[in-house]
Amino acid sequence: MNNKEQTQDNTLPLKHYDSVIIGAGFGGIRAAYEMQKKGLSSRLFEAGSDVGGTWYWNRYPGARTDTESWGYCFFFSQELNEEWDWDERMPTWDQVQKYMVYAVDRLDLRKNMQFNTRVQSAHYDEANNLWTVTTQQGESVTCQYLISAVGWFEEPCKPAFKGIDNFKGEWYVPSRWPKEPVDFAGKKVGIIGSGSTAVQILTSVAHTAEHVTMFQRTPNYVMPGRNYPVDKFEKQFKKKNFQAIIEQTRKQVYAFPMVDSTIAYDDVDEAERQRILEAGWEAGGFRFIFETFSDITVNEKANEAACEFFRNKIRSIVKDPATAELLCPDYYIALKRPPVSNFYYESFNRPNVSLVDVSKTAIDEILPNGVKVGDSEYDFDILVFAMGFDAVTGPLMNLDVRGRNGLTIKEKWQDGPHTHLGIVMDDFPNMFIITGPQTPFSNVPPVVESSVTWIGQLISHMKQEGYDSVEGSPQAVAEWTTLMKTLVDQTLMRDSASQRAWFMGANIPGKPHAVLFYFGGAGAYFDEVDKEADAGFPSLVFSKASAVSSKTISRSA
Ligand code: NAP
Repeated sequence: MNNKEQTQDNTLPLKHYDSVIIGAGFGGIRAAYEMQKKGLSSRLFEAGSDVGGTWYWNRYPGARTDTESWGYCFFFSQELNEEWDWDERMPTWDQVQKYMVYAVDRLDLRKNMQFNTRVQSAHYDEANNLWTVTTQQGESVTCQYLISAVGWFEEPCKPAFKGIDNFKGEWYVPSRWPKEPVDFAGKKVGIIGSGSTAVQILTSVAHTAEHVTMFQRTPNYVMPGRNYPVDKFEKQFKKKNFQAIIEQTRKQVYAFPMVDSTIAYDDVDEAERQRILEAGWEAGGFRFIFETFSDITVNEKANEAACEFFRNKIRSIVKDPATAELLCPDYYIALKRPPVSNFYYESFNRPNVSLVDVSKTAIDEILPNGVKVGDSEYDFDILVFAMGFDAVTGPLMNLDVRGRNGLTIKEKWQDGPHTHLGIVMDDFPNMFIITGPQTPFSNVPPVVESSVTWIGQLISHMKQEGYDSVEGSPQAVAEWTTLMKTLVDQTLMRDSASQRAWFMGANIPGKPHAVLFYFGGAGAYFDEVDKEADAGFPSLVFSKASAVSSKTISRSA
C-alpha cells in the first residue's frame, strides 16, 4: 500500500496513490474493489455527487435498462447479489443507481471515492514513472496506475441549432437531466431524436403532457421490452442460478443472459421461420435478435425476413398508415443499435402524440416558441434534445490525457482508437481503460468483470516479476486495431456508418469513422483476454524502474 505525500518540483506536496480511477460507474466501482482487494491504495474521482455513472447522469423520465436485471450486475460476488432484489425485469435508472450505492457501501469503497470532482488532465511523467492527475477543482495527485472508467456516454451531443438561446420555454439534454422533477402536465413537449433515449422519454411523458411531438430523422427497430415485475419465485430462481447466469453471459455473443439461437435461416421452412420470429417478438428485448436466427447479423436473407416481420408488426400496431410507414426502417436490423421500449409503437395511437419526419427537410432553427422545419412551425413549452453522444472515444479524447513525450490521446486516436484488447495502449504506460473502445459491443458488466480481473492479474504479474511499467506493444496494438475491421466486415454491421451509427463514430459530423468495438463475439473476446494473461502477457512491454529512467535520460540527452 502506497499512499504518501510526494513532492513535485520540490515545491508542491502532492498526495500519491497506487492508482487513480476516473468514474464511479460499473467499471470504476469494480476497479476500486480490485485495488482494495489487492491492498493497493486508490483515489476515485467522480464528477457526479454519487456513484452510478451512466445511471447517475441519465435520470430522464422513462430511463431503464434494456438488459435483464439478473444479467446487469456485479458478477464477482454471489453474496453481494444474494442480498439484493431486482424488482423488475428491466430496472429503472434509480433502481440501478441504488444497487451501485448498495454495492459500494457493502464493500466499504466509499472512503476512497471523491465526488463532485471532475478530472481535467492526466499526464505521464516518464522520469518518475508516475501519472499526475489534476481535477477541475484544482487538486493534483500522483499515481502509478491510471485507470479510466469514464464509460461510453459521458459527452452528450449538445443542440447546436440556430436560435436555441432565444427559446422561451424549458429545454433539456437527457444525460444532464435535473434532479428536481420536471412537470410535463398540460405542456406541449417536443423531442428531437428517435434513438434509445428518445423512445423511453416519449412513452413516459405521453402519459402527462398535453401533447408530445417526436422529430424523427431515422426510424429505429424499437424492440418491445416486455418489462414485468419479478415475483419472489423468479427472484429465488435467479439467485439459485447465479453461476449459470454468469456462464450464459460469458458465452452469449453480446454477453446477455440468454442462449443464442442455433437455427440458421435456411435450416427451416417459411412457417417455422414465422413461428421463430413471433416467439422472438413475444420474448421481448434483444431476444428478437439473438433467439431467432443464428445468422441474423451476417445473412442478408435472414435479416431482411426479420426486418419485414418487424415492419408488419409496426403496421399492425400503428393505426394511421402514414405514421406507420414513417416509423418503418428500411435498413438491416442491427445496423443501428436497436432501442428497447415498452408500448412505443402503441404511443402513436394516442391523440396527444405525433411524429414529424425530418429526414428530408431538416430542423431549420429553434424559434422563441418552438421549432421550425421548412415552412412549418411547431409551438412547444418544453424541448428535449435526445441527440446522442460523442460516444466511446469522446469521453477520453476530451480529457487532457498525455502519455510518453506529451503525446495526447486526441493525437493518438485522431483516426480512431488504437489499443490492445481495448485495455492498454502503447505510449501510455501503466494506463488501463475499462469499457473503452475495441472491447466487445455488448452488455457492459460482463466486460467490466473481464477487464478488471485482467488488470488485477497484470498488476500481480508485475509485482511478481519486479516490473514498474507496462504498455501494449506497438505491434499488438496495430494488430488489434486491424482485427476490429476484419471482424465487423464479416457482419452486416460493416455498413453501419451509412446509418450514422455511433458505434462506428458516424453520428457526429467530422468525427473519424472507425470501428469502435470488437465484433467477434463476447465469448471470443473473453478467451483472448484470458489467453493473454495465461501466457504471461506476451503482447505487452514491461520495464523496470532503472530502464524507465535510462530511457528518459537517453531521449533527453
Ligand atoms: P442515439 O441512438 O445516437 O440517437 C440520437 C438521435 O438523435 C437519433 O435519432 C438521431 O437521428 C437524432 N439526431 C441527432 N442529430 C439530429 C439532428 N440534427 N436532427 C434531428 N435528429 C437528430 O442516442 P441515444 O438515444 O442517446 O442512445 C445512445 C446509446 O445510449 C444507445 O444506442 C444505447 O446504447 C445507450 N442507451 C441505452 C439505454 C438503455 O440501456 N436502456 C437507454 C438510452 C440510451 P439519426 O438516427 O438520423 O442520426
